[in-house]
Amino acid sequence: MSSKSERYAYRDLKICTKDCLCLFVCPTGATDNETGQIDFDKCIGCGNCAAACPSRAISMLPRVYPKQKVKDKRVISELFKLADSKIEQIKTLKYLMNKSSNDDEKRLYKALIHSNKVMVEDMMREAGFMLPQSSNTNKFLISLKGKDEEIDKVIDKLLDKLEIND
Ligand code: SF4
Ligand code: SF4
Repeated sequence: MSSKSERYAYRDLKICTKDCLCLFVCPTGATDNETGQIDFDKCIGCGNCAAACPSRAISMLPRVYPKQKVKDKRVISELFKLADSKIEQIKTLKYLMNKSSNDDEKRLYKALIHSNKVMVEDMMREAGFMLPQSSNTNKFLISLKGKDEEIDKVIDKLLDKLEIND
């Protein structure tokens, strides 16, 4: 990984409309890459492309993420308990949604399921399990190995790419 700049540009190909404005403003040619992605090594992190992109398809990302804050074990334990209760609520809501024949009710259950999922994600993030570079996540990924060959390949790829920085 280059140490030229603290940040680099990342293009979301699903949003990119290929109007090429980023190619005109990039001083290094990093945006003009055969893969469609921005060349991380050529990027000097000036942000011109992100500012010029009409689709907001470019984000500036840090090359090194900040270290994860150490959480008190009691906080983590409470977050897990809370997340578990939300997961139980999701199961109940799914059950009720499948039983219901009323469209308004179904929509309400769907919205509640979504909001509970978002809360679970937040809790897991707060507990330190959503930062890809954290040692927690690394251990979690390793714990998932050994059940399916295809999944193992994906996990190995992730483990190979993700540096641990805590
Ligand atoms: S300026 Fe934005 S939308 Fe246009 S090619 Fe670049 S990334 Fe894609
Ligand atoms: S941040 Fe600057 S150097 Fe990097 S790709 Fe965008 S315009 Fe080019």
